Amino acid sequence: MLKKERYQLFVEYFSKHQPDAETELHYSNPYELLVAVILSAQCTDKRINQVTPALFSRFPTVEDLAASNADEIFTYIRSVSYPNNKAKHLAGMAKMLVEQFGAQVPSGLDELQKLPGVGRKTANVIASVIYDAPAMAVDTHVFRVSNRLGLTTNARTPLAVEKQLIGYLPNETIAMAHHWLILHGRYICLARKPKCEICPITHFCKYYQSGKAALVFSKTAKVAKSKSAKAKTIKKLKPQNLPIENEAIAKD
Ligand code: SF4
Repeated sequence: MLKKERYQLFVEYFSKHQPDAETELHYSNPYELLVAVILSAQCTDKRINQVTPALFSRFPTVEDLAASNADEIFTYIRSVSYPNNKAKHLAGMAKMLVEQFGAQVPSGLDELQKLPGVGRKTANVIASVIYDAPAMAVDTHVFRVSNRLGLTTNARTPLAVEKQLIGYLPNETIAMAHHWLILHGRYICLARKPKCEICPITHFCKYYQSGKAALVFSKTAKVAKSKSAKAKTIKKLKPQNLPIENEAIAKD
């Protein structure tokens, strides 16, 4: 299948089935989205949505956040990943926004990336979600899913993925395609074990068509079978009063 055709099928499928895809982060204005996206690096949207209500209630405007300091901000975000660094970034970002940008979140990628805690990915999210710019933010899901689908070829860095996706996608779909790829990666095309058996886009997925998916599925089935046999043996041997191990916390 030609890459052009693959892109066409990708846009056709998601335009029809997820025409209103959007970020799962909760926010009500550009300032809140910027804070939420900075916090979401290496963390789940679910966790961020748990801490932002109290944070935004204490700091309803960027001026309020700028008047605070990293130590106080830390107390509101202690349960997210890298809270120390993120608290410093938020304090610095707010001060710079107030002092240099008139308390307005800028729309340009260069200006956005001057803000502490804002890299290319965060800047692209703000540009596309708030300003509807044809910008593609590449996170781990976008990177993995676009590669598996065959939308990218030999793209080894987020910037290479971004350039290839932007090069092929129609301009008006770029911002939306970011959400399509993230949501598909988060719920179906999982990193360790993609759910190809229930995936509705196998007909244009390069990974699936290469047969790798079947291979992973049969290996996983074998492992599951041997684990289940092992578990039965252990169950026979295990005294009933042994404590049950905690379940691992599911990551995004
Ligand atoms: S078929 Fe499998 S590898 Fe391809 S997009 Fe779907 S879940 Fe991912």
